[in-house]
Amino acid sequence: MKSQKKALVDWFLKNRSVFPWRVQDPYALRDAYWVWISEIMLQQTQVSTVIPYFERWMERFKDVNTLAEATEEEVLSYWQGLGYYSRAKNILKSARIIKKQYLGILPSTRKELEALPGIGKYTAGAILSFAYHAPEAILDGNLTRIFSRLYSISFLPQNKKQADFYWAHATEWAQSPKAFLVNEALMDLGRLVCKVKTPNCSVCPLKNSCKAYLNQQTQSFPPTKIRRYTAWEGLVLVIESQDGFVFFENSESSPFFKNQYCLPHFKFSKTQSKNFPIQAESWVSFEQVISFTFVGAFKHAITTYKIEAQVMHLLLHTNASQNDPRWFSKKNLFEKISNAFSLKALEKVFNSH
Ligand code: SF4
Repeated sequence: MKSQKKALVDWFLKNRSVFPWRVQDPYALRDAYWVWISEIMLQQTQVSTVIPYFERWMERFKDVNTLAEATEEEVLSYWQGLGYYSRAKNILKSARIIKKQYLGILPSTRKELEALPGIGKYTAGAILSFAYHAPEAILDGNLTRIFSRLYSISFLPQNKKQADFYWAHATEWAQSPKAFLVNEALMDLGRLVCKVKTPNCSVCPLKNSCKAYLNQQTQSFPPTKIRRYTAWEGLVLVIESQDGFVFFENSESSPFFKNQYCLPHFKFSKTQSKNFPIQAESWVSFEQVISFTFVGAFKHAITTYKIEAQVMHLLLHTNASQNDPRWFSKKNLFEKISNAFSLKALEKVFNSH
């Protein structure tokens, strides 16, 4: 293990990528606030997408205390486009706790960090390792893939027992005074070399001990995730006001979206009649409607749902309420809305004109 870590770190020091949240000197302590924000932004989002968001964020919210004093509305506006808005809301909640309980400095124990909203095992490990140089483990998709191949592990961390197995390997790798380098090296190795579809084993510093590589089985690891989908048939409403605004809601009742703006939708069978559906009355009264048109259907998959949705465009003879943030101007809808499900429905409407 010692020689593996050395080979990995040597490779990393020659090939390390520099991002706005990483300092130039790989041995320097990193700012805990920067590590925290970048790691949350990077969840489910590519590095190239995150860079401009991170830079804008740090220009406006330069430290935890500045962030803690901002309004939720402003914080969300800096997150607009990254999706999964609960992440931004949790960051703000945590910032307020850190300001009040820890004088604006992120705590340096796993227990305290994991007690903060939105900070899980991975993020806590990243903060402790990169900002405080503690020998703490991290485990994300990249490391999971590497470990699966390195040790020929034929299961994914889909339950607690399996996750513990992977975390045990991650912990073993982090047992080092240079855990901050080892962890970052594993992240970069996963991103640059041990890629999902085509691992570039010939340049990998771990190839001499990688079971999957030595057995010529890199394509068999990690195993494919078995997904069980639930079919969902529904109707999406594109409600357009007379003055050119479209109505979105921050849906609590949606089975797939929480805390993000999306078009109103509800269960609706494709065999159902194409009359004005009674469920639409939850958003508009029939008297407000000049016309309603079924403009087509689309398919979409999200989390464990396979969606087949029809789209209905409703034109109102009333104006949008100017003080209601749920109404978005048609002019810049595609810049403001990041919800792919809603965008597919909007395309159906705009392509039908
Ligand atoms: S040898 Fe290939 S499969 Fe094994 S860790 Fe390296 S890149 Fe991944």
